[in-house]
Amino acid sequence: MKKVILLLVDSLLPGPLEKAMERGEVPNMSAIAETGTFIKRGVTLLPTMSCVVDSSIITGCYPDEHHVPGLMWYNPKENRIVDYGSSFGITWRLGFKQVLQDVIHDLHSKHLSKKVTTIYEDLEKRGLTTGNINFGVYRGKSEHTMKMPFLLNLMTKFQLNNKKVKGPNILTVGKLVKGELNKPYDINAPSSVFKRYGLNDEYTIEVFQEIVRQKQLPDFTMMYFPDLDQAVHKKGTKFAIDSIQKIDKKIGQLLDALGGPEKAMEETIWIILSDHGQTDVKEGIGQIPLPEILSDLTIHNLRKPIDSATMDVVICNNERLTYLYFFRMKKDKIMEALLADSRIDFVAHRNNQQITVEKRDHDSNKKKDLKLVYSETGDYTDPYNQTWNISGDYQVLDLHVKDNRIDYDDYPDALKRLQAAFFGQRTQDVLVVTAKPGYEFQSQGSANHNGGGSHGSLHRQDSEIPIIIGGTDKKPKYPRIVDLKKFILDLIH
Ligand SMILES: [Zn+2]
Repeated sequence: MKKVILLLVDSLLPGPLEKAMERGEVPNMSAIAETGTFIKRGVTLLPTMSCVVDSSIITGCYPDEHHVPGLMWYNPKENRIVDYGSSFGITWRLGFKQVLQDVIHDLHSKHLSKKVTTIYEDLEKRGLTTGNINFGVYRGKSEHTMKMPFLLNLMTKFQLNNKKVKGPNILTVGKLVKGELNKPYDINAPSSVFKRYGLNDEYTIEVFQEIVRQKQLPDFTMMYFPDLDQAVHKKGTKFAIDSIQKIDKKIGQLLDALGGPEKAMEETIWIILSDHGQTDVKEGIGQIPLPEILSDLTIHNLRKPIDSATMDVVICNNERLTYLYFFRMKKDKIMEALLADSRIDFVAHRNNQQITVEKRDHDSNKKKDLKLVYSETGDYTDPYNQTWNISGDYQVLDLHVKDNRIDYDDYPDALKRLQAAFFGQRTQDVLVVTAKPGYEFQSQGSANHNGGGSHGSLHRQDSEIPIIIGGTDKKPKYPRIVDLKKFILDLIH
């Protein structure tokens, strides 16, 4: 049995990667693809945000089942916003203690549904070993102890220090959780507060090298490279090629630990993929100011508690997608304000099993409102064999329908991904709003990627990802992230 290694490269964009491969600029990734498959356009989840995608990679299901609906979302049970660190400005307002608690602890042990199992839990049940180096979501069966650096201890009032977390057999979360190996070891890679306490590519590489050196490579290892995401956010998608070459060199370091690409592919199976794409944000005019658009309504202030008796709307910003939680019967008023803005792509809402997606055509002379209504199971079948009941204007989600068959174009796997974003919520009183290409949402404390890149939406620029598989000729059933868990479980037996 070959051991399996999955490497998630945040924001590895399919277009630039394909070009770099054609030009021979990424020899290591090419060598891996030559011993397997290169899926150029795989499909991720919605919102196209790492924590949602990571939860789907380890559970093999959509957010409707794993219940992590966004980077930022409203939890009515605790009447508060959950945020896994979307921006410094938002973290500052919500409080460092809460955000750290959410991302380090609650995401894994509270928010990720207990009704679904993770790939670590499944493999460990079969008596197999598992490892996680810096990958974002890590619930497993083995207990580990968190050691918080001094500054984080101050911010969290020492409440997370020495806290137990359940993860795979070997768990590394930067400096916070040190993977236990047979022999003691030190990691020299940067791990200061500015290098995110070891949540960086170099740290991931060094821990992997150490595990291999100590001959303790688990049957399945999940690794994460976070650095590329930051580069694309800052400079935009056109600068991705240079950065992709750097990533390829780093992958070379991992392969060298196993004796070089050839030996590595003979002895192990590799899966390298991205969690989402990115879309360029127009310089100077790319921000959609939600507080301005919703100025007639009472918007929740992030610094204050949520009071549904005096507030109309809670904004949970996921960059190019926003969740708007509405109170006091203000749904229609909010929708009208949003549809009037030509930078908004669509507004969707839920009524029990039914999803309605609305769009205003601002381009034609007469402003036209379009509406698509759908629900699961029906006479229409999509490329993933999911069936739907659909009516209204198919162009709202760019559906191409012929002989009861649905094909997707601008919005890959649109119907299930959008539905699952609603069904993963703890309330029905929410609108899903997305930005057109070129734009992202601006709200209190949100990140600003002016002239850079952003993601979050249903559009294919945010949603299409490359998947490179090496060391096996097998492929997942469909080229979607939700199909990877079963694929890996079938590979390891
Ligand atoms: Zn990002």
